[in-house]
Amino acid sequence: MDIAALNPLFRYVLVRTSHPGNIGSAARAIRTMGFTRLELIAPHRFPDDEATAMAAGADDVLAGAGIHTDLVGGLAGATLVLGLSARRRGVTLPELDPRQAAAQAVAAAGRGEQVAWVFGNERTGLENDELARCHAMVRIPSVDDFSSLNLSQAVQVAAYETRMAQLAGAGGGEAVPSNDEPPADAEQLERFFEHLAQTLDDIEFHKGRQPDTILLRLRKLFLRARPDLRELRVMHGIFADAQRMASLARKNSSG
Ligand code: SAH
Repeated sequence: MDIAALNPLFRYVLVRTSHPGNIGSAARAIRTMGFTRLELIAPHRFPDDEATAMAAGADDVLAGAGIHTDLVGGLAGATLVLGLSARRRGVTLPELDPRQAAAQAVAAAGRGEQVAWVFGNERTGLENDELARCHAMVRIPSVDDFSSLNLSQAVQVAAYETRMAQLAGAGGGEAVPSNDEPPADAEQLERFFEHLAQTLDDIEFHKGRQPDTILLRLRKLFLRARPDLRELRVMHGIFADAQRMASLARKNSSG
């Protein structure tokens, strides 16, 4: 398989980037490894001369960069989402190093799936709700007392490992079992999670407890299962029926 033919399946997503120079450096970093797709989520300043200067000629990447207001928009179509973080957050996601993650990314692309590598803001990193949209957390194994790389250097590591996995013909090594049907993408999953949350409210599942923890747990379960669209439709159908029964029960008890 021609490596370049699959490269449009990989995207690099920069979330709330503060310094436009880092956007330019990231464009250069991915371009050197054969990738061109950059998605920017609410960049503080873009386009910007500093970005152009640091891109050092990777102008096609900058010109083609998508700009979105939120992460879900930048993930449209992606079925494997890998979030890079220097530290563990409150989210219990499977943790991979970049090499393991790249092997999975290349295997997924080989099945025709779209892969997103997601990077956080320079100072604050990825927020918990952003990491909750990822299938795995990827940590570059830096030392504990100085763990944070420059954003574009972290992008370079991910792009380099992806390229190395491609050159090695990485195929297997998938930790997530596959299905003949393609898994649902990030937007379809988001709609599913919204319906799930609404249904739990409607059936009064929480009984005064905070919904956040259980919702994160359920997110983890469904992200691990990687449901396809038909499976999600069945779940939407179940939720709709549960909502209908809950509303009937409310009417009966009030009437
Ligand atoms: N203080 C922030 C650091 C942000 S650095 C934090 O602790 O998360 C900007 C981005 O570069 C991070 O959000 C992450 O996507 C990436 N990055 C930097 N160092 C990394 C590391 N050791 N492992 C994985 N990603 C890293």
